[in-house]
Amino acid sequence: MSANVVAEEKEACQAKITNKVAIVTGSGRGIGRAIAEALLAQGARVVISDINEETCNNTAQELKDLGGGTLSCVCNVTQSESVEAMVAKVMEKWGQIDILVNNAGITRDNLYMKMTEQEWQAVIDTNLTSAFKVTKPVLKVMSKQRSGRIINIASTTGVHGNFGQVNYAAAKAGLIGFTKTVALEYASRTITANVVAPGFIDTDMTRALGEEIINKFKEKIPLKRMGTPADIAAAVLFFAGAGSYVTGQVLEVNGGLYT
Ligand code: NDP
Repeated sequence: MSANVVAEEKEACQAKITNKVAIVTGSGRGIGRAIAEALLAQGARVVISDINEETCNNTAQELKDLGGGTLSCVCNVTQSESVEAMVAKVMEKWGQIDILVNNAGITRDNLYMKMTEQEWQAVIDTNLTSAFKVTKPVLKVMSKQRSGRIINIASTTGVHGNFGQVNYAAAKAGLIGFTKTVALEYASRTITANVVAPGFIDTDMTRALGEEIINKFKEKIPLKRMGTPADIAAAVLFFAGAGSYVTGQVLEVNGGLYT
């Protein structure tokens, strides 16, 4: 491909994202923040949304001069009222929603026989039921616009399973089924829905596992490194921008580790 063609394609992707309004849940820190930064770099207006008021407001403030600017929306994705208030605030400020990234998530790891119902329910609520709650009011807006991009952040654990994560694997596998169905139901309105499934990414979530486990994982990864939040953001940008003929897909971003 010539340098000209590459430059044209980059420009075309940027044009598709410039000035669009994107909501990224859980974007106060970690992968969500990197996704917000990448969308802003392409010229989008980005809603920084997080349960944690301090990181939410700080991140929105730190990124406010990038792209089309930021809007801070403190939002707990497990609470319908909180979600509806966020959507109302975004519509009041910008009057449109073009991109939704359901990114907020938690882990409560334990071997199945030791896992409590609370650990199960917290993970299902935050990683799966949240997508049901957030996507519905956003789809109402996108349906009227007859366009939209929904990108759900699952995990390779949802595709392959993982020891100690029966709750997380079930939630992320559920998120994949949810996405594929939304893709079918909303294709006629030119709304796409896709999944990015990260492998082992360097954030607070994985740092909590400790150095020994992290090093064991790195050994197993064919590319011999953990992924970065920016690696995940790059995949999200594809679905948000260039990938207009791609829907119902799961893209694993995992350094080649398919287990
Ligand atoms: P982090 O724990 O670093 O960040 C998650 C963010 O989501 C935090 O800001 C957190 O707020 C927020 N959050 C938690 N609960 C809620 C809620 N109820 N409502 C709104 N926001 C909430 O996680 P990562 O950045 O690592 O993960 C982001 C996504 O990527 C998650 O869905 C995760 O499952 C997925 N993922 C991550 C992988 C990894 O290796 N890191 C691998 C595979 C998937 P607070 O600051 O209060 O905790």
